[in-house]
Amino acid sequence: MSIETEETTRISDSGISRSYGAFINNEFIPIGDTSFPAFDAGTGEHLADVARCGAAEVDQAVEAARAAFPAWKAVAAEERAGLLLKLADAVEANLSRLALIDARDIGRKVGETALDHQFAINQYRYFAAAAVTHEGWGRSIPNGYLIAKREPYGVCGQIIPWNVPAIMAAFKIAPAVAAGNTVVLKPDENASLSTLELGKLIAEIFPPGVINIVPGLGEEAGAALTSHPGVNKLAFTGSSEVGRIISIAGSQRLIPVSLELGGKSPNIVFPDTDKLDAVVDNASFAALYCNGQSCLAGTRLFVHDDIYDEFMGKMVAAFKRISVGAATEESTTLSGLISEEQGIRVLGYIEKGLAEGAKLLTGGKRVTVPGHEHGYFIEPTIFEATNDMAIAQEEIFGPVLTVIRWNDFDQMIEEANDIRYGLAAGVYTSNLKNAMATADRLEAGSVWINSYFNLASGSPFGGFKESGIGSEYCHETLNMYTHLKSITVQNEPSEAWFIPSPL
Ligand code: NAD
Repeated sequence: MSIETEETTRISDSGISRSYGAFINNEFIPIGDTSFPAFDAGTGEHLADVARCGAAEVDQAVEAARAAFPAWKAVAAEERAGLLLKLADAVEANLSRLALIDARDIGRKVGETALDHQFAINQYRYFAAAAVTHEGWGRSIPNGYLIAKREPYGVCGQIIPWNVPAIMAAFKIAPAVAAGNTVVLKPDENASLSTLELGKLIAEIFPPGVINIVPGLGEEAGAALTSHPGVNKLAFTGSSEVGRIISIAGSQRLIPVSLELGGKSPNIVFPDTDKLDAVVDNASFAALYCNGQSCLAGTRLFVHDDIYDEFMGKMVAAFKRISVGAATEESTTLSGLISEEQGIRVLGYIEKGLAEGAKLLTGGKRVTVPGHEHGYFIEPTIFEATNDMAIAQEEIFGPVLTVIRWNDFDQMIEEANDIRYGLAAGVYTSNLKNAMATADRLEAGSVWINSYFNLASGSPFGGFKESGIGSEYCHETLNMYTHLKSITVQNEPSEAWFIPSPL
């Protein structure tokens, strides 16, 4: 096993290698001529070169995963669970190093990227436990037995986005290998480093070929993976637009596809809400975690007329207190966006909001952070808007919160649901009846009552409408990674019967 080569000289205290080839069969293959650079999102420092994989590397990775599958499928669930637990421990031992790599690679503050890795650790542990309790069922039939058993699909092609790379890699790898599949994972071209570093840990724990990683561009490595005839299941997290492309590729090959896509989630405040200060904290976190670059972000805040002035006074004050700064500084509350392209897109939405007549309550401008001029930092921004505006309907993926007043319950529910997405929602009220009536009527895969983002292990996580197909993070996820096979057993050869005789 050759993990460290001459090329992997350490260039920083976070242990980033100078270059990363594709990770296939527990080895990093030589990087070759085609690569792309990874930069520190804030300072612009060149961190590493990453292989720009194409069809040839994807082919090699799928072959490795196919070759590893029969033996991996035969491994006892307890043993698969044990290896996932070891991976969790290895990530834990490397947590601060991995968190720093993500903070530099994607520009998110290091305290938050550390939480991402903790979340990933929980995933590996949860699916280790789930692996040994994921069962089919059986019953007696006349002169025999009916058995329904779960079997892994084979090779899973998995594609993830850049915003929370540690969580995304764990969301994909953990359930797939727990269920006995092998994996070819493509990280995002903007955030490959921590996933490739995970490869180094995987190489010490898993048999070769069980988990392979092919960095590269969507239209190259991604497209090669989704159309590869050796892939038996596709799992994708990213935008609804690319999700549609992946879904078409999967349906052309008639293989199952699970999708976790975009969101623009409502966060609803009732007039009877207690503890407004805590709700302000919660609603700010809902909008600004991941610098607003989260699929789950609660970016449409519905505030009742009766408390609007008081509540929004507190929200605006909270946003004004936020300190914008470098991802690696402890004092930073909000850091920069992933790229200049994303920054320009977010500022474009701010201009669009103003042009549409939305009222800017705070923020709206780019911020320069000394020493981090390469980064794209934007003030935390609040608009008062109406639900038909682009800033209320489209995923901005930046620190921009859109607030909508409400006073009629039915109309508010109609507006909250009047959007193409349905990923998540929040409801704040001291009245349980209101809370449950609202949760029942919201078209969203996850609803939080008096909280936001509280994701206990095992909580189903998936989208309604254009936010996705399937549920991750829960026991049900293992069903997405397995066929259900029936085996009908007769104790001895007997006369054929089609259905049991009716009484
Ligand atoms: P994206 O769809 O542009 O890219 C996601 C991944 O798809 C990347 O790895 C990219 O290389 C790959 N890709 C792009 N084109 C491809 C193609 N033609 N074939 C195969 N692969 C291709 O999304 P993004 O901009 O990186 O991420 C942001 C989006 O992801 C947002 O919409 C966000 O809401 C969503 N997201 C959803 C969840 C969730 O769980 N629902 C979680 C995180 C992010």
